[in-house]
Amino acid sequence: MIDVSTAQKLVMSHCSINNKSVEVSLHDASDYVLAENVISKIDMPPFRQSAMDGYALHVGDTSTYRLVGEVKAGDNSNLKLNTGEAVRIFTGAAVPDTANTVIMQEKVIVKGGLITIEGALQTNLNIRPKAEQIKIDDIALTKGTTIKGAHIGFLASLGVTAITVYEKPSIAIVVTGNELVIPGNPLSFGEIYESNGAMLAAVLRELGYKSVSVLTVKDDYQCTKKTLKDTIENYDLTIVTGGVSVGDYDFVGKALNDLKVEEIFYKVKQKPGKPLFFGKKGSASIFGLPGNPAAALSCFYMYVYSHLKKMEGAINTNLLSISMPLVSDYTVKGDRAQFLKAKIVDGGVEVLGGQSSAMLRTFGEANALVFLPEGTKHISKDQHVKTIVLPTK
Ligand code: AMP
Ligand code: MG
Repeated sequence: MIDVSTAQKLVMSHCSINNKSVEVSLHDASDYVLAENVISKIDMPPFRQSAMDGYALHVGDTSTYRLVGEVKAGDNSNLKLNTGEAVRIFTGAAVPDTANTVIMQEKVIVKGGLITIEGALQTNLNIRPKAEQIKIDDIALTKGTTIKGAHIGFLASLGVTAITVYEKPSIAIVVTGNELVIPGNPLSFGEIYESNGAMLAAVLRELGYKSVSVLTVKDDYQCTKKTLKDTIENYDLTIVTGGVSVGDYDFVGKALNDLKVEEIFYKVKQKPGKPLFFGKKGSASIFGLPGNPAAALSCFYMYVYSHLKKMEGAINTNLLSISMPLVSDYTVKGDRAQFLKAKIVDGGVEVLGGQSSAMLRTFGEANALVFLPEGTKHISKDQHVKTIVLPTK
């Protein structure tokens, strides 16, 4: 059995990067990964901009100036100021070329067409220089950036309307189990409602993956094999849940083997998620996640997430990981490395109750996973632990 870090490295080193790109409208670009650098076609700001409501003037050896006009945001004027003259100016307006400072209105006394500045006069106050943020022809955003709202705002400010991004991988989720019933149908004794498919599809959608299919199979060898053959041939990534253990009715391993999927690893020294499988067939990747829902979700975040990010060309492939003090003592049962559902709170990180791999209830409350390396026995309050921040949405 391999350890967590070896497994994570293997997941990243066996990853086929999708190089197909497509142009999308900037408005639809959230969560896509940029396939080429975006070059700015303009200076930003395009002109010297006032950062305040106040008065623009050219600093001379007087503190009193004659008001000769006004410039509002959007005005297309470039008033020429002579010595001793000032203009009323507003935030965002173009500062006249002949002015070299903007005095905020709170520091000015206005009387009879004259303004008097209180205190010492300084040049270059409250003026955003032209191209302060970015110059024309400079790189605005680098290839490999995963587009977020702030990027969209920044690119919109440069007049960009469309960008070239990598196509998203297509993903199939295959849930296995005779006991599974799709919610909406009655539950007979011995059955449970299917939750992994709904959960993983939702998490993938939250991350911006739109092409996701969920397929359900019974614990039947032929049916499992046929479904997996189809998903491996037609999707970039297959995520199977359940049926990967060693029970008499766990057919996933045998089906993948018979389909000539190369096993990269099977089983990791971790809790939850010991029976994790990862394999490749050509460019297709196959993850076999445990059936227990909380284990499936932890394994998704700890392995599948980074693999998917790398597949679509992202520079940042890992979830944010920080060191945080535990807010109370925690004692580990067993020897395996642990991923614990946790919540970052004021002053530290709290390990949540209900850590069983079968229990999802507290996962919704979690905003992080605490990672405790193999062999950890006890962590005292205030001791720092590796805390992996989950995506928020
Ligand atoms: P397995 O890995 O198939 O042995 O399943 C382990 C546990 O997870 C069993 O209790 C299953 O009933 C449960 N399980 C498997 N798949 C799902 C699913 N899609 N939704 C909810 N529970 C599941
Ligand atoms: Mg099963």
